[in-house]
Amino acid sequence: MGGTFDISLDSLAGRSVTLEDVSSECTSELPQTQGKDLRAVRLLPGPEPQTAPCATGARDGATFFLETFGCQMNDHDSEKVAGVLLSRGYKQVESPDAASLVLYNTCSIREKAAQKVFSRLGEYRTKQAAGQVIGVLGCVAQQEGKEIFERAPWVSLVCGSASYRKLPELLAQVEAGNQRVTGLNTDTDETFETPVTRRDNPWRAYLTIIEGCDKACAYCVVPFTRGPERSRASDSILKEVRELAELGYSEVQLLGQTVNSYADPSSRRMRFSELLLAVADVPGMRRVRFTTSHPRDFGADIVAALEAQPKLCNHVHLPVQSGSTRVLREMVRTYTRDEYLEKIAMLRRAKRPIAITTDVIVGFPGETEADFAETLTLLEEVQYDSLFSFKYSPRPNTPSLSMPDAIPEAEKSRRLTVLQETQREIQSKRNASLVNTRFEVLVSGKSRRENQWSGHTSCHRVINFTSQEQNLLGTYVQVLATGAGPNSLVGEQVT
Ligand code: SAM
Ligand code: SF4
Repeated sequence: MGGTFDISLDSLAGRSVTLEDVSSECTSELPQTQGKDLRAVRLLPGPEPQTAPCATGARDGATFFLETFGCQMNDHDSEKVAGVLLSRGYKQVESPDAASLVLYNTCSIREKAAQKVFSRLGEYRTKQAAGQVIGVLGCVAQQEGKEIFERAPWVSLVCGSASYRKLPELLAQVEAGNQRVTGLNTDTDETFETPVTRRDNPWRAYLTIIEGCDKACAYCVVPFTRGPERSRASDSILKEVRELAELGYSEVQLLGQTVNSYADPSSRRMRFSELLLAVADVPGMRRVRFTTSHPRDFGADIVAALEAQPKLCNHVHLPVQSGSTRVLREMVRTYTRDEYLEKIAMLRRAKRPIAITTDVIVGFPGETEADFAETLTLLEEVQYDSLFSFKYSPRPNTPSLSMPDAIPEAEKSRRLTVLQETQREIQSKRNASLVNTRFEVLVSGKSRRENQWSGHTSCHRVINFTSQEQNLLGTYVQVLATGAGPNSLVGEQVT
């Protein structure tokens, strides 16, 4: 089979995937959130997405369009923002032209992402005069703050993610006609919980368990844009998981910038690994995922939980960023190459195979050819199942901005290509070794071609397969892998 998947590791949306996902003409029928609005209509069989029970606040006929950039945490924030708006009586529309309120939930992790937001805003220069309200949410809002009003005076609302709790009040001000409404405080111990979340995917639900970040990686804007680490109480998490199971969701993905740094603020003081087991115990839940884990806080108790409970998916995303201890120190990642490799060895000793994926940055200031070579040998040593690779992008407010020995763009691009080629070969071999293996697959896509379906394995591989069944979406089936490419498997349904 050949061609290109347009579903991939969608839980990692927003990152530059190293290698194009390869498969046949399978298309995901799931509503895709990245770069698109969150649709209010249900496109697929499955449980009804949660929708708004009441209408308060918005003027008659108010409509909203919401476009999301960035990571899955942004996707999920948008689901919650959509819930807040629906509960205020807004209707969701599919085009910004049809909306009275246009919102951009933004990402500023790399420069290009932030530039994209301003170019999108430029397209809406004339809209405020036409009565439309334009708002900027998320990381660019937090990073640029009131400066956005200067660069794009047609914007009326600027709100960072740490202020989403205040969104109903801020919206009330917008609805009252206030032209410059801001929510930019990051000094908070609150998490963004809302009684109504409008989820996109009918089977897999995102659930943020920890917001913000207290790590201080030298290159990263997240501690500035998302504020300090705040964990959600375990009983509130478990209540939502039970509700999700009752609605028919069978897979839950626990989210956090450093999800495994979770610290239960309630008197139960549940550890992250205990929370994983408790979530998996909720009747109806069949798969539990979590991302992103920070290597420093990744302990043996998490591996023991994965061993003990098969509902915990056999996939861990453990970003390394560099294979050079010297660069890791400059990045303030708080572990050495050897310490990272000890965590990998712990995962490899687990009683069942666990897929491991990672993030790598090339061209960090001062990264020598020898440092980069160490990253390549790390890839060979770990044999990652997939990898997300980034050229270092200097970001405002970050310590690395003033570091000497910037790497030229052309050299960063060269290193990225070498890294991706190395990983492509590793992935081709790893996937080829899985031919003739049986997988349980959650079916999430149907091809335009007859009898062709696609879905994800527990280890989060995309598998494209044939089946004579008529209605598989949202179900779990057994698939035998019969072929492999660098980014996906192909197979056939078996009993
Ligand atoms: N919290 C996660 C961790 O510790 O690995 C990562 C979250 S960050 C949103 C996702 C990835 O973006 C990072 O793992 C890193 O590889 C990449 N990234 C962050 N800042 C970057 C920058 N300034 N330039 C290039 N890549 C960056
Ligand atoms: Fe950014 Fe580091 Fe926090 Fe991850 S752990 S969000 S890379 S500061």
